[in-house]
Amino acid sequence: MLSFDIRTLSQGAVQVEGDLSAADPVWLEDDARPVSHVHVTGRLSGAGSGRYYFSGAFTGTAAGECRRCLVPVESAVSGQAHFLYADADDENADEPDVFPLGDSGTTLDLRPALREQWLLEAPALPLCRPDCKGFCPTCGADLNAGPCACILS
Ligand SMILES: [Zn+2]
Ligand SMILES: [Zn+2]
Repeated sequence: MLSFDIRTLSQGAVQVEGDLSAADPVWLEDDARPVSHVHVTGRLSGAGSGRYYFSGAFTGTAAGECRRCLVPVESAVSGQAHFLYADADDENADEPDVFPLGDSGTTLDLRPALREQWLLEAPALPLCRPDCKGFCPTCGADLNAGPCACILS
């Protein structure tokens, strides 16, 4: 579970452990999604009037394709997550690292912030291996399979 009714936080901090599925609607079309899900653990607590703080970590496997030869590449991804949430009318709500609470002001959804943090940590241009040769720009042959005829001409 990654969405919380903040009224339950008035009783104290909440331990968070959950999964953000690759099929979750929070992901956009071109995102480097996880293969199955992002696993997140941490602690959510109140941080003064109308403010909440999440501190935790996440791990997962990013699904992408080699930027040179386009084969599927899976990359291990992990990172720290420190999110500050505030009411829309909070004086610091416009700061770039402050996330707004949900519409009603009673729901705190970790998923959008987690998505952003995941995309920062996931490799944007992965390689299948450091010395991937990619395709020949002339004939399109996969140069990992061996040199193409263009080299001889
Ligand atoms: Zn490659
Ligand atoms: Zn060639």
